[in-house]
Order: sequence, then C-alpha cells, then structure tokens
Amino acid sequence: MGIVVQKYGGTSVAGPERIKNVAQRVCRAAEAGNQVVVVVSAQGDTTDRLLDMAYTISPDPPKRELDMLLATGEQISISLLAMAIDTLGHKVISLTGAQGGILTDERHTKAKIREVNAERIVAELERGCIVIVAGFQGITPSNDITTLGRGGSDTTAVAVAAALKADICEIYTDVSGVYTADPRIVADARLLPKVGYDEMLELASLGALILQPRAVEVAAIYGVPLHVRSSFSDSPGTIVREVKDMEKVVSVTGVASDDNCAQIVLLGVPRHLNALQLVFGMLAEDGINVDMIVKAQSGPNTDNLSFTVQRNDLKAALSAIKQLQGADEWKILANEDVAKVSIVGAGMMTNPGVAAEMFDALANEGIPVELVTTSEIKVSCLVPRDLYKAAVAACHRRFCLSDTNS
Ligand code: ASP
Ligand code: MG
Repeated sequence: MGIVVQKYGGTSVAGPERIKNVAQRVCRAAEAGNQVVVVVSAQGDTTDRLLDMAYTISPDPPKRELDMLLATGEQISISLLAMAIDTLGHKVISLTGAQGGILTDERHTKAKIREVNAERIVAELERGCIVIVAGFQGITPSNDITTLGRGGSDTTAVAVAAALKADICEIYTDVSGVYTADPRIVADARLLPKVGYDEMLELASLGALILQPRAVEVAAIYGVPLHVRSSFSDSPGTIVREVKDMEKVVSVTGVASDDNCAQIVLLGVPRHLNALQLVFGMLAEDGINVDMIVKAQSGPNTDNLSFTVQRNDLKAALSAIKQLQGADEWKILANEDVAKVSIVGAGMMTNPGVAAEMFDALANEGIPVELVTTSEIKVSCLVPRDLYKAAVAACHRRFCLSDTNS
C-alpha cells in the first residue's frame, strides 16, 4: 500500500483499445491497494497536429495562444481515460493541470513548474478516487494556461510524485526501458536494469528521447525513484535512482546521439566585443540553449567561436546574432548536417583514457570530429550527420556494451 504515480506517453493512449489497456493497468495498481495518480500525454501525434494547425493559420502564433491550443490535447486523453476506468467500476476523476494545482512561471511554451499545490489531488485520493492529471500543462499566477515544453508530461509526473512523496513514479512508454544505445541504430543494444540520476540526465539531455531531461532533474532533486517501462508488455524496465559510488564499476554505461542539432560558427569576431559574453547573453535572453562551445584566437585582435544549438532554435539564434553583428565585418556560418554522439558513464570519473578510446574508435572508422565537449561522466563529439549511426555503433562495440557481463 502506497502512493503510485503512473505516466503514460502519447503512443500508450493512441486509440480506444490502448486507452482501455491503460485503464486496466491503472486499475490493477489500485486493486493492489495503492493510491494511484495517473499523468497522461496527448494521444499519438496530437500535439504535432495541433502545432501544424497553428502554423497554417499564422507563421508566428502568439505563445499564449499556442498554449491554449496545445493544452487541449492532454484534456482529450484525461477525460477518455477517466471514462475507460469508470467502465471498470473504479471511482475516478480527471483534472486539468490548473485543477491539479500545477503552478508554473509565465514562459509560455517552455514554462517551468514552480510548485505543485496537491490539495485537490490529495482530497480526491482520500475520497477513494483514482486521479488522472493532464500532463504538460499548468497555470500561471494570473490564471493563464501554460505548457512545459515537448515531452513535458514526464516532468508533470515527477513533480506530482515529489509533491505527494510517492513511493515510485512509473513512466510507461513504447519501449521497454533505457538501453545502452538506441536499438534502432544498434541491434544488440542491451536493456539497462538500473541507471543513476546523473547518467540518466546526461543520456536524456544527449538525445535519448525516453525522458524529458527536466523530469530527471526534478527526480534527482527530490529523490523520486523512476521506473521506465513499456505499457505494452510486462518486461521489467529500468529503475532510475541514486547509484552509490561502489556500483560505478563500468566506465561507459551507454551511447547517446542527437541528430537534432546545428552548428553555428562565427569567424573573426573583434576581441573587444567579448563574443562569449555578448553572444551567449543574447541567446540566453531569448531562451535558446547553447551546447558545445569552442573559442579560439583567429588573428591578433579577433576570435572564432563555434557552438551548437537545437536545430529548431537555429533560425532564432541566427537572427539574434545578426542583430549583434550590425555593420561589423565578421562572418556567420551555419551547418545543419551535424549530429552529436556521446558516451556516458558515472565510472568515467575514475577511469582515465576513456575519451582517447572513443576518438580512436571514431578515427578507425574514418569519422571526423568537429567539436568535443566533456563532463565528469560524458564525452560528446560532433560528427557529420550522415555518419552518426556508424559512430554510435563504433562506440558501442569499442566499449563492449552488448556484453551482458559488463
Ligand atoms: N504532448 C506533449 C508533447 O507531445 C507532451 C508530452 O507528450 O509529454 O510533447
Ligand atoms: Mg515523451
């Protein structure tokens, strides 16, 4: 008997049969004696379709109105799931983000949860209800609807689990858990039974689309254990939790890739402009995340700057930088044909030579590396986009990640 938060992604609720299947899983958790809160995403590709609709009407829809529109997707899922659970004879209620007390800041389309006021959810649980909360959405102090960025239902689920001090937050998805590499790229990728929060955060941020990185961050801060598993099978999945130092034995846990990035190169920026401060200050103001960064001297008084952004931020980033450029001489280049390949492992901290192994594996395949960044537990290389799958496979082989005894 405990509090369980379950989150179901868009594919898990795409269509009536799947909704009925989810309803059965939810009821099973309730029948086992748990208080159950369910967070759901919009069905299938609903959010994409809503976005298409918006951009058919306007090239630049107001963000507040985008949020009004996008939030409807999740409202369809919560009500349908509540109906399905009702037919199974359980007490159930669906709540929008606002009704569920998901309070956010005012950054429309990228809002952050400030607080979960769980009073209503708790009251409904006490009444014996299964509570269904719309993922991905919240409400500002001035009562405007916000959304939390793509994949934001994960964050709703973790935030609700943290507020309720839930025993577990189960993330149901269309894959069986977290793998050593994307199984569509590496056929013998292996399911990881457990990963640490810090490794999961790197994997999620580096393009393993299985969890929204923000959700992992919140889980780590509040110590919410996550269980990532398939809604289509009973396979055991992956537990994401704090991993003790003694367990950090393997140097590389997984390989991630992100083919949704773009590289920007600024050539010959006058040094007195302080390119790092100026450019990244401007991009930060516009809410654009910058990733790999290299600065180098290009002449006696000029610098080159190379960095990556998400591909869908490229246009906005370029136009922000063009404003800075004014009448100056420096050049701006953009390259969309790049992808990032990263190796991740908490054990890297104590094992020297891991980066060297990765560079050697890539060089042996003739894969050039444009940019490199490292942290204590990851090494990322920017490679040509048409070679990134080969790069993932080469790293996976080099670090023997398909061996079950590693
Ligand atoms: N429906 C939203 C999206 O497609 C949120 C989510 O699925 O988590 O991004
Ligand atoms: Mg998702």
